[in-house]
Amino acid sequence: MIFNKQVLCPNCGKKAKKNTEIWWERHYGEYAGNLKVIRREQTFNGDILTLWDEESYKMYCGYFCTNRCAQEFGNAAFHASICADA
Ligand SMILES: [Zn+2]
Repeated sequence: MIFNKQVLCPNCGKKAKKNTEIWWERHYGEYAGNLKVIRREQTFNGDILTLWDEESYKMYCGYFCTNRCAQEFGNAAFHASICADA
């Protein structure tokens, strides 16, 4: 899921990663877009750029950083709901 600000994983507290794109100069030519180049990696096959819009962040699994975090949180929430009823 994409967010327009930095968020934390509800399960482990890890920060969302920047929602970046990869630009390979050898294939696409020199980058001339609006995104910020946050990393340039020089390879024998041409430079590889990491681009970012400076505002969007990405979580791998919905609101969570990993499938595992989503599972753990889901199970804990369900468990809590069962215990609350008992
Ligand atoms: Zn997590």
